[in-house]
Order: sequence, then structure tokens, then C-alpha cells
Amino acid sequence: MSDCLFCKIIGGEIPSSKVYEDELVFAFRDIAPMTPTHILVVPKAHLDSVDAVTPENSGVVAHIFEVIPRIAQAEGLVNGYRVVSNCGPDAGQTVKHLHFHILGGKPLATEMA
Ligand code: 5GP
Ligand code: ZN
Repeated sequence: MSDCLFCKIIGGEIPSSKVYEDELVFAFRDIAPMTPTHILVVPKAHLDSVDAVTPENSGVVAHIFEVIPRIAQAEGLVNGYRVVSNCGPDAGQTVKHLHFHILGGKPLATEMA
């Protein structure tokens, strides 16, 4: 998607602090971290949100969830972490490219919403 912020980050058009990359997935530090460690994990192929996941493309989501614990381990999140994906306006999704937040590095609020 030519006007998608995260597609531009994946393509290197917009700089980011990359923490992981493979053929399917790109991960980088959130520009406005909410926790000491705040990483975004995104599929390289553009999908708008969780709503766009189908039987045909869900393999990349499974792959993302294999990658997330490896990133968490590399980041030293030995006491745990939270994975969040905001989907749509009520959830406050601001970038319409599917992404999973990895939040950690301190004890997190027990209330999620
Ligand atoms: P959402 O609100 O859609 O769940 O998450 C979007 C996230 O993208 C936000 O946490 C926001 O800080 C982050 N973000 C927005 N623009 C940029 C950017 O240009 N670079 C990086 N690294 N993160 C960004
Ligand atoms: Zn995109």
C-alpha cells in the first residue's frame, strides 16, 4: 500500500529502529513507547487489521506469534510481557496496517481496558 506508514517503514522509506526481520515479518521500536520495551511486530504483506485475517493469510499471524517470544527473550523480558493488537476505532487503531504491540519491561496495569 503506497500511502501506508508501516509499509513505508518496512520498505525503508521511513527510518525505524529495527529489532527483527525475516521474509514475512518486520519488528521495530514504537516511536512513542508506553513501556520501557515497546515493539511493533507487523507482517510485511499489508493487511489492514485483525479483521483482514482469513484462512488464506493467517499463516503469517501464526508466524508472528512464533517470532514474538524470540523477540521478548532477546529483549530480556524474563518477567513477562503483553501482546496487544488494536482493531478499529473503538480500540483506538491509528495505523491501518496489522500490528502487534509487545509491551514490557515493567509490571503492567492489571486492567486492560
Ligand atoms: P495503534 O494505535 O494503531 O494500535 O498503534 C500504532 C502505533 O504506531 C502507536 O503506538 C504509535 O506510537 C506508533 N507509530 C506511529 N507512527 C510511527 C512511526 O513513524 N514510527 C514508529 N516507530 N512508530 C510509530
Ligand atoms: Zn501497510
